[in-house]
Amino acid sequence: MTCYDVIILGAGASGLMCAIEAGKREKAVLILDHADKVGKKIVLSGGGRCNFTNLHISPNEYISQNRYFCISALKRFTQHDIISFIQKHGIEHHEREHGRLFTSRSAQDIVNVLLKECNKHKVNIIKECGTLNVKKNGTFNVHSGKGTYSSESLVIATGGMSFQKKSGLGFGYNIARQFSLNVVEPYAGLVPFTYNRDDAKCFSSLPGIFVNAAVTYRENSFRENILFTHRGLSGPAILQISSYWNQGEAINIDLLPDQDLFSHLKQKRDKKPKAGIISIVSEMLPKRLVEKICENSVNTKPIRQFSDKELKDVSEMFKNRSFKPNGTEGYRTAEVTVGGVNTNELSSKTLESKNVKGLYFIGEVVDVTGHLGGYNLQWAWSSGFCAGQFV
Ligand SMILES: Cc1cc2nc3c(=O)[nH]c(=O)nc-3n(C[C@H](O)[C@H](O)[C@H](O)COP(=O)(O)OP(=O)(O)OC[C@H]3O[C@@H](n4cnc5c(N)ncnc54)[C@H](O)[C@@H]3O)c2cc1C
Repeated sequence: MTCYDVIILGAGASGLMCAIEAGKREKAVLILDHADKVGKKIVLSGGGRCNFTNLHISPNEYISQNRYFCISALKRFTQHDIISFIQKHGIEHHEREHGRLFTSRSAQDIVNVLLKECNKHKVNIIKECGTLNVKKNGTFNVHSGKGTYSSESLVIATGGMSFQKKSGLGFGYNIARQFSLNVVEPYAGLVPFTYNRDDAKCFSSLPGIFVNAAVTYRENSFRENILFTHRGLSGPAILQISSYWNQGEAINIDLLPDQDLFSHLKQKRDKKPKAGIISIVSEMLPKRLVEKICENSVNTKPIRQFSDKELKDVSEMFKNRSFKPNGTEGYRTAEVTVGGVNTNELSSKTLESKNVKGLYFIGEVVDVTGHLGGYNLQWAWSSGFCAGQFV
């Protein structure tokens, strides 16, 4: 059995950051990962450009049963710290809407730098480690397909359930349960919705159409693009709201958030009495979408023949659309897993289990889930950094 100070399970954003920090403290660090490459999700992220953080990091951008838990880590390793790290290594980045920061060349640049730093601090990384089995007998003993290792500190950085290898899926949650830690039931977040049967008939022929909309579910509202696909609704505003959505419930969509459509239609009735509703609304939204929404429900008569009540009804169809998804695309396309190891079980300063000495959970496996826009990677960097100071 080979002994290390720290074993980290998972070579993703949080695990690599934790390894570098522990390595700087001259700890002997081993990372085990079942994948053939490290940092696979970083490479996928941001469409290959990695939206690695956001200028407006705030606890309000995170979902958790304890929304204050993330504050400590996010304060100790901030968006400015990861920006400095990126800059120090010569990786160019740029800002997009809503303060989102992306690498200018490739997400792989970040993985390369993380690997270089791991190498510098003598972190040993074993890929394709096979099935892992953990036992605690004073120290932690980790049995893998490539050997058995032991350590004083064990860090679980195996992420959530999306875009993961089928074997070992949900591993981090199972380890938590094995050590009697509570897990907040996980579900897919930042994920497209699928159409119910009626909406499929109406909208499945509109793939590629996108609209800047306001999407609301309960007290949460997001104003960004929504995208119509063959199977359902996607786009940033939909992904954001999906992290809050409960199966069986409806969301509300305002397709013209900047318009008082009712007043606009009344004005048009005075000024262009012969015009049809479809042509008027098509000045503001894609015509094919307007036609579909009006199909079977809006009379093709000229607007002058519409009563106020009828114009109000038309306006509601665009501004106050209730959309009841059939479900979500699930973990296959989800960007994150909401839920995870209950934060009550962990120290917010060290990410160590309160009851199992030496056992740490970092990154997405913890019940801290960010909104779209670089918030999840920032949580991975911050929590990895913090645990790296204490392991
Ligand atoms: C397509 C996509 C795009 C995204 N884009 C962004 C973005 O632009 N910005 C952003 O902030 N967030 C983005 N995210 C979310 C973000 O990538 C994750 O929240 C973040 O990578 C989580 O880091 P982590 O270290 O906790 O876990 P991960 O990065 O998932 O790493 C976990 C590691 O553990 C390994 N592992 C898992 N199970 C086992 C096991 N049983 N045995 C051994 N090894 C195991 C995995 O192989 C993996 O290497 C995106 C996610 C996806 C899927």
